[in-house]
Amino acid sequence: MSGGDMNDVEARVTAWIRPEIRSQSAYAVADASGLVKLDAMENPYRWPEALRAEWLERLRDLPINRYPDPAATELARAVRNWAGLSDTTGLLFGNGSDELIQMLLLAVAGPDRKVLVPEPTFVMYRILAGLVGMECIGVDLEDDFSLDTDAFLAAMARHRPAILFLAWPNNPTGRLLPRADLLRIVEAAPGLVVVDEAYAAFASDSVLDVLGEYPQLLLLRTFSKMGLAGLRLGWLAGDPAWIREIDKTRLPYNVNLLTQASVAFALEHHQVLDRQTARIRAERDRLQAALAAVPGIRVFPSEANFLLFRVPAGSADALFEGIKAQGVLIKRLGGHRTLTDCLRVTVGTAEENDRFLTALEASLAEL
Ligand SMILES: *Cc1c(COP(=O)(O)O)cnc(C)c1O
Repeated sequence: MSGGDMNDVEARVTAWIRPEIRSQSAYAVADASGLVKLDAMENPYRWPEALRAEWLERLRDLPINRYPDPAATELARAVRNWAGLSDTTGLLFGNGSDELIQMLLLAVAGPDRKVLVPEPTFVMYRILAGLVGMECIGVDLEDDFSLDTDAFLAAMARHRPAILFLAWPNNPTGRLLPRADLLRIVEAAPGLVVVDEAYAAFASDSVLDVLGEYPQLLLLRTFSKMGLAGLRLGWLAGDPAWIREIDKTRLPYNVNLLTQASVAFALEHHQVLDRQTARIRAERDRLQAALAAVPGIRVFPSEANFLLFRVPAGSADALFEGIKAQGVLIKRLGGHRTLTDCLRVTVGTAEENDRFLTALEASLAEL
């Protein structure tokens, strides 16, 4: 392409792409090839060989020439059963819970409509709010990543958000806001409250039992962190009056045939996933204790499958690179004052966690 064409296309891009899109950077995913991957909260375990063979057998006869069931009927039955959702609770699936966050925002977006979140939290709330043209207001967490609930309630009273998101436990901190504080927020919210339990498999509490008691409360879950990240499936549950409306923002056939069948199959064998997540919880506690014993490191308590830790001032970049040079990819954090000098590691297998610890200690010694 000649330089003239380039300039022409750039001028057109500038003229036509919305400024709020141009000013955003794309969601960055680090290249993990050849590295121990402890950056994205994935479950490190595969399925046993016999189970994989049975699963492939199940997929063999699926009619991939046909569109999938738009209502994902069988999958819905399997999820309701497994999660213990009553038949009167509304249920909606997304291509990952990210898609459900987008659907929720599309359903409430409008001039002067606001989104409220604690910060730091899961970055997609703010990114997707920007995409639909909503203002996202953040209430800063304290230095120990606890939430000042009164400050949050005050912000809610001032801004009257159409929707608020509470990642419970929170990402990237791993903290679980006390239930009483969460319910104070739910009760006082003027609009929708989405409790995002992406880490439910690793947490000690859930709002599942009070879902029917608060009409403004919606529960968001995902299969990604518990072991099925590659299938991309999330679900949203709550009063059917909400779910019916939010469903109208869904693209037809958003959950593909292979995902519908594979997750339904996985739930028939949920004990396999349960055993894996139990091992991850035990490893999290071991890794937490090991990190707490490393001089110069402050590790924060976590109810998720990752640990956030603070390193000596100014050393986060060097440690991240040092750990990576030894073959382990973790997550460098930034974007919020409280995350200065913080790194996040996903809990892997015992061997992976040991490799990480060795790499961290060697990198600390080189500072
Ligand atoms: C990872 C994560 C998600 C996204 O999950 P997908 O279902 O994979 O899109 C949503 N919310 C939180 C808090 C997360 O950490």
